[in-house]
Amino acid sequence: MKKIKKVVDLILSSKYTVALTGAGISTESGIPDFRTPGKGLWEKLPAEAFSTWAFKTNPKALYEHGMVMFGDLLAAKSNPAHRMLAILEKKGLLKAVITQNIDGLHQKAGSKTVFEIHGHLRTGTCMGCGKKYKMEEIMKKLKEGKLPPRCDDCKKVIKLDIILFGDNLPPEEYGKSLDVARRCDLMLVLGSSLVVTPASDLPAVALGSGAKLVIMNKMATGYDGEAGVVIHEPLGKTAEAILKELESRSQ
Ligand code: NAD
Repeated sequence: MKKIKKVVDLILSSKYTVALTGAGISTESGIPDFRTPGKGLWEKLPAEAFSTWAFKTNPKALYEHGMVMFGDLLAAKSNPAHRMLAILEKKGLLKAVITQNIDGLHQKAGSKTVFEIHGHLRTGTCMGCGKKYKMEEIMKKLKEGKLPPRCDDCKKVIKLDIILFGDNLPPEEYGKSLDVARRCDLMLVLGSSLVVTPASDLPAVALGSGAKLVIMNKMATGYDGEAGVVIHEPLGKTAEAILKELESRSQ
């Protein structure tokens, strides 16, 4: 409880708070993360199929392995932690969410300023002519057994607008993320192991500009020693406690 009060103190006394989220914020929506031992996706899926090199030589593999996961991600619902961030933004207490997630759950929860540095599952792009496809069209092709899905016009492979290992990050989204990381005086990290670069550099950017750091993650991270508050608890519980504390301060 002391830690929750301290997080709320920091949120209320900061002028520019940003959140950095990872797969751990969506596990309570039923989406597994990558690295939780025993449950993480990398214990079930071959990580190498999700690299840009593998995709170029064998695009079918990514769709074969990922098809069920993409369907699950699209059907998932936001949870209390996504909703807490949307509420903070609405109250003027949060400027932006930088997310490594591709699930779109921040937007489903109502967040408006979201930088998706690892892409999203709303669209895909033809690797030949650049034609854009909505995810529903791509899922339809997959369900019809068209693996990999191909462009209706030029017949080249359609790549989802997600970042694979070896891809560059979307420059505009990452540029904006760097900008808010430099400007913020408080960064909240929620559900990230903080091991995937360059996303994991963003807390260092914030700290380097004098910001305070709050880490809310079940497992320890490499930044715990530099954070003002560290909470190793399930995020849903933490988010509800923060909102309750915030509510009590406005009465
Ligand atoms: P990660 O798997 O490396 O780390 C997730 C962290 O969240 C872990 O340290 C774990 O302890 C913590 N965690 C899990 N459930 C939690 C909970 N209920 N409460 C608090 N903490 C919890 O994930 P990452 O740091 O985001 O980086 C890996 C990559 O995973 C990113 O590139 C991201 O694109 C990708 N990814 C995204 C999704 C998604 O869109 N939902 C799902 C899986 C992986």
